[in-house]
Amino acid sequence: MKVTRLLLLRCPKCKNKMKYGGRTFLLGNKRKACVYCGISFKVKENIIEEAEQQKQ
Ligand SMILES: [Zn+2]
Repeated sequence: MKVTRLLLLRCPKCKNKMKYGGRTFLLGNKRKACVYCGISFKVKENIIEEAEQQKQ
């Protein structure tokens, strides 16, 4: 069974929401490029929801 973290992020510029997920990963200072406006922002500071999904 794999545990996948799924985060819901909100872009600090355009305020659009997007999903960000993966297998056990460390956030640290990771950045993500917004899929809507293209700016990159810090993942950790823009999480609005966090969920764990379990897949078999
Ligand atoms: Zn954006």
